[in-house]
Amino acid sequence: MSQDKIRDNINKHIYENIIIGGGPAGLTAGLYLSRSRVDVLLLEKGFSGGQVNLTETIENYPGFPEGILGPELMQRFEQQAVKFGLKIMNTNVSEIYPDDQESKRVFVIKTDDGNFYSRSVIIATGGEASKLKVPGEEEFIGRGVSYCGTCDGAFFKDREIVVVGGGDTALEEALFLTRFASKVTIIHRRDELRATKILQERAFHNPKIHFSWSSIVLSIIGKTQVEAVQLKNVKTEKITILPCQGVFVFTGYRPNYPLLGDLEARLVNENGYIITDDNMQARVEGIFACGDVRAKGLRQVVTACGEGATAAFFVEAFLK
Ligand code: NAP
Repeated sequence: MSQDKIRDNINKHIYENIIIGGGPAGLTAGLYLSRSRVDVLLLEKGFSGGQVNLTETIENYPGFPEGILGPELMQRFEQQAVKFGLKIMNTNVSEIYPDDQESKRVFVIKTDDGNFYSRSVIIATGGEASKLKVPGEEEFIGRGVSYCGTCDGAFFKDREIVVVGGGDTALEEALFLTRFASKVTIIHRRDELRATKILQERAFHNPKIHFSWSSIVLSIIGKTQVEAVQLKNVKTEKITILPCQGVFVFTGYRPNYPLLGDLEARLVNENGYIITDDNMQARVEGIFACGDVRAKGLRQVVTACGEGATAAFFVEAFLK
């Protein structure tokens, strides 16, 4: 259906389901729901694919033994969902709230193109790793700069890499990355780690892990691939160059979602992630969440797909 046709429906139509976010979780939910002939609309603010579009090669999505480019995989997801009739509209969703005027429960999805209405909502808005915002970072994403050890660690076999950050994620990922890299230097802006003691002990005892204390990254240097980082010691102000082939940044991760108003206190945990049960049902009836926005342990394309399918299945059950 064309975007104009979809726009005609604004203020006139109550969908059975609206999916917010067109990454792997949202597109999989959309594939399942449209294939089941549920009246569903997917709202995505930019290109479909989300964070996967920033990943050069995905090697751990089953079915592609040679790996596949992130944007290509996401294009295929979109094509497949659209083939089964999924309607996708590009617009920014700003808010979700229950419509008090309706006798049956209806959610209002406020967007830059007006309000949409739906009996159920799947929030699949993903999240975003915090960036260092230093020269070279954007340029070398996928060419040495990464925000995911599980995704990209295997590309750094016998390479020297740095991990930026001193929290639980940085240490867990640094420990994981020692399976591949010959040397992992943790760059932390203070002289004391934030991570839990057990992770600190493991890192201190790992012969492959080294530390650059009280240091910040000033820039990431290279020609076509990462070749080094420029560091500044914040105590001595001394500037040094540390050669490396990979820079893994773990300085925090933020889930993305629209304003949830009064619903937020019920839906979200203390770290800002949406809590669901095993059926992807959030703590407000009719609202489901899947993918990186969910409170969970593993954030991967393959887990997002499983959660998208699960959300779709239980949305159907809810609608019945
Ligand atoms: P986090 O705890 O917020 O740690 C972020 C780290 O990055 C901190 O060390 C921080 O330094 C550093 N940092 C922040 N901004 C920076 C910048 N611009 N430049 C350089 N360094 C910067 O984040 P997280 O490690 O992702 O953990 C998030 C939450 O998930 C935490 O509650 C954590 O406990 C939890 N978590 C738990 C587990 C587990 O239990 N197994 C695993 C992973 C995460 P400062 O310390 O100086 O602020």
